Amino acid sequence: MYKFSGFRDGHTHPLFAEREGVGPDVTDCDTVSAVVERIGDFLKANPECTWVDCGSFSPELHAGQPAHFSQLDEASVAVPIVVHASDHHSIWVNSAALAVAGLTDAAPAIPNAEIVVDATGKPTGVLREWDAMNLIYAHQPAPSLDDDLAALARAQQRLLKAGVVAVQEAWIDPGMPEVYLAAAEASRLLLRVNLAPRIAPQSWREDLNFAKATRSRVRASGSGLLTCNTVKIFVDGVLSDGTALLKHDYCHGGRGTALWDPSELAEAALAADSAGFQLHFHAIGDAAVAAALDALDHVDLCNGFVDRRSVISHAELIDPADYARIKRLGTIVCQQPAWASVESAPPSVATALGDDRVERLYPLRDLLDNRVALSFGSDWPVSPPEPLPAIFTACTRLQPGSNSAPLNAGQSIGRTEALRAYSVGTALQLGQESLLSQDEVTFDTDLENCTNAELLGAKVVSVRVAGRVVYEA
Ligand SMILES: [Zn+2]
Repeated sequence: MYKFSGFRDGHTHPLFAEREGVGPDVTDCDTVSAVVERIGDFLKANPECTWVDCGSFSPELHAGQPAHFSQLDEASVAVPIVVHASDHHSIWVNSAALAVAGLTDAAPAIPNAEIVVDATGKPTGVLREWDAMNLIYAHQPAPSLDDDLAALARAQQRLLKAGVVAVQEAWIDPGMPEVYLAAAEASRLLLRVNLAPRIAPQSWREDLNFAKATRSRVRASGSGLLTCNTVKIFVDGVLSDGTALLKHDYCHGGRGTALWDPSELAEAALAADSAGFQLHFHAIGDAAVAAALDALDHVDLCNGFVDRRSVISHAELIDPADYARIKRLGTIVCQQPAWASVESAPPSVATALGDDRVERLYPLRDLLDNRVALSFGSDWPVSPPEPLPAIFTACTRLQPGSNSAPLNAGQSIGRTEALRAYSVGTALQLGQESLLSQDEVTFDTDLENCTNAELLGAKVVSVRVAGRVVYEA
């Protein structure tokens, strides 16, 4: 038996994950035709289905054969089909989905996003980044509150079964707080959830008002488990799409996509900090990490140095010159340990970055050696929400069961360090250190002193959150 205060996930999207989970799971499909067949079978088994939303396909699936709507049309030309890429920054859709969005003949230009077109200018069925993807999502039938509550219940069961007692819900848009509030009100919220409304470059002032209103509603609910202390800010995109922001050119040219004007980012960050929100940045490339730090420097200068526990999530590539600044600002780096293997640096990413930058990806060892506060998160549905396989990867730089070579093995960390980042490290990020004694997870295996095989086979026996037993095996 092993008892501790439980795992805390510093960056996750439980509602998105389980909404997407209503569609067929195509994660294990390793060919385009397998994806199409899986969706076709799903539609045959669910003839009442009016919209397929599912995930997720690896960008490698289409190497040499660009994704096209006509491939998905073999599953259906009548029902819109949306398949998420595994990085969740692009989607692949069929002709029916393009049609409902009015995108069959031409694609409008969208700043910082892309509707991929063929040589004649017609959309091919691939849309990159939120402002493009949203043209499709806007037509998707909204899930009912009951559907969303069921999705949240499934998400909580999966998290509790994995020993997770608290999560940072890392992306809240209008329509989502209601689900958490309704769950809290009906005593159906079982673990601790901190909401992070998203504030976007074009609409940050209104978005900040939405964040304040959401925080007021959460406080008024009186829930001991639900908070809204944080705002989420996307600074860049992802490496696999070439939209992560780099200090030096990608090997194929360009430095990625800056979503914000730097002075606007500093102003938005300052406004959110002044309103009492913790800042949670999505920053993947080294230039995006630096841009977030520039904004935090401005916040520090204007509002004074206090323990504001700003968070930079992902930080897949960090310029070593920035460690001192991260430390000085007291910024917590929330890494996704499940990504620290060659599977997250597939040939397309490795070619785009070049060997020396690949060697510096997911720098867990460097973060700890530079005494940076480290927390862990899954970014579910990008990766599964179970902490133990991710802890295995943090220590070995391998996926469980993989025959690959480790990804820059020098960046591996120890078992105790990894367990700490996923528990106490994230508790610090969430401001929950005074609550640790109220939460307890019991495993059937001593997680600190067991073999890797035993770690991967360890099972949760029971979970207590805020003094209440909420899960028993
Ligand atoms: Zn995320």
